[in-house]
Amino acid sequence: MMSTFNLIISLHMSNKQTKPLDFDRQHVWHPYTSMSKPLPSYFVESAHGVHLQLGSGEKVIDAMSSWWAVIHGYNHPALTKAITEQAAKVSHVMFGGLTHQPAIDLCQKLVELTPEPLQKVFLSDSGSVAVEVAMKMAYQYWFAVKASQPNLYKATDKTKLLTVKNGYHGDTFAAMSVCDPVNGMHQMFENVINKHYFAPAPKTRFGDAWDESELTELKALFAEHHQELAAFIIEPIVQGAGGMRIYHPEYLKACRTLCDKYQVLLIADEIATGFGRTGKLFACQWAAITPDILCLGKALTGGYMTLAATMCTDNVATTVSNSEAGCFMHGPTFMGNPLACAVANASLDLLIKDNWQEKIAAIELQLQQELLPLSAHSQVADTRVIGAIGVVEVKSLVNMSQIQKRFVELGVWIRPFGKLIYIMPPFIISPVELSKVIAAITTVLDENDCFIGE
Ligand code: PMP
Repeated sequence: MMSTFNLIISLHMSNKQTKPLDFDRQHVWHPYTSMSKPLPSYFVESAHGVHLQLGSGEKVIDAMSSWWAVIHGYNHPALTKAITEQAAKVSHVMFGGLTHQPAIDLCQKLVELTPEPLQKVFLSDSGSVAVEVAMKMAYQYWFAVKASQPNLYKATDKTKLLTVKNGYHGDTFAAMSVCDPVNGMHQMFENVINKHYFAPAPKTRFGDAWDESELTELKALFAEHHQELAAFIIEPIVQGAGGMRIYHPEYLKACRTLCDKYQVLLIADEIATGFGRTGKLFACQWAAITPDILCLGKALTGGYMTLAATMCTDNVATTVSNSEAGCFMHGPTFMGNPLACAVANASLDLLIKDNWQEKIAAIELQLQQELLPLSAHSQVADTRVIGAIGVVEVKSLVNMSQIQKRFVELGVWIRPFGKLIYIMPPFIISPVELSKVIAAITTVLDENDCFIGE
């Protein structure tokens, strides 16, 4: 006979099964969401190509690529095959003392695809961890230099970072400490995050005439603090979650020059921009520069699995490895996960085979023709486009739940934040589908009832 306890549990479970969205609201924490007043979540039943099939019946075009990741679309046969075949061989093994073909293949591809000086690859679980790893590499590099040349850095250790305002590098503590100090989480965590230096955000827009004078403060910060600086970290060309700002390649070139002049390592965070999104395979190529340390993630697996990579030069790797510790002090449990590496290999093969340049160029042209003109709309403060990224900055804050609902009714999935309605669709989106996405944005602007003032 069923005990009262089991009966209650089983009733509770059946309740959960019949009302998954209610359970979700009550128990499942979503990104940047309150548990007491959660924003609505939409139930995804399945996904195919650019479409998400919602439980409520709507089929929406995902214009976000699930936050930059799903570049080839959902349920791609080649990616599904790669992960399924790998699962039948080995889904996971520890990476300490063991290695495997998917990881070796992936690291070989990454070494081949990225600029020549980037020779060493450290695999990890997520973008934020890749940034933590990059920062730790930079610190360990300077610990090692200091140990071998004790007179070089007498007064101060090189334990600070320099970065720019409006940046975003992740939600873990080291990553958070180099996010924008105002729109990031500095205020709340002021007493628990490390303090770093912030230069003004890059100002000259991509495509405008370069204005050298914007470097004044950046140069002064390098000159004043270089003895303390382990690294300079920046998102190349596109500042993502910190404002969707697209800046001039000359700025990035100047960063490289200043890092060289003052012996500061350059970390490029290409977690969002990597793998073709800006119209170059890596956004650093717009400025023809190579960082000392490069962070990759998001689209690395075509959005199938969480995986990230931190790459570095021989110099960084050798110096770290010749330190007193004799090794790099990091090693996550799921490092080099074979399923994630296998699907990343398939995703990179597909990217190269499918002629990504043509696809991105076509998306960019269409965004230029159909989305840029929205700058004339009375609700719009600015529009900008690079590669397969389109941004509409509106004059008023968006009402998140209202605008989300309206977009779903219009058959698209767009998740704005603040005053930014932005899209970065899967590379396989068709011209008709992209027009539908832009038309939905236009409709929402015209209706003008999803905004809540300054
Ligand atoms: N850096 C950049 C530039 C990002 O856009 C993100 C994610 N939005 C991260 C780091 C953090 O990556 P993850 O969310 O995978 O930790």
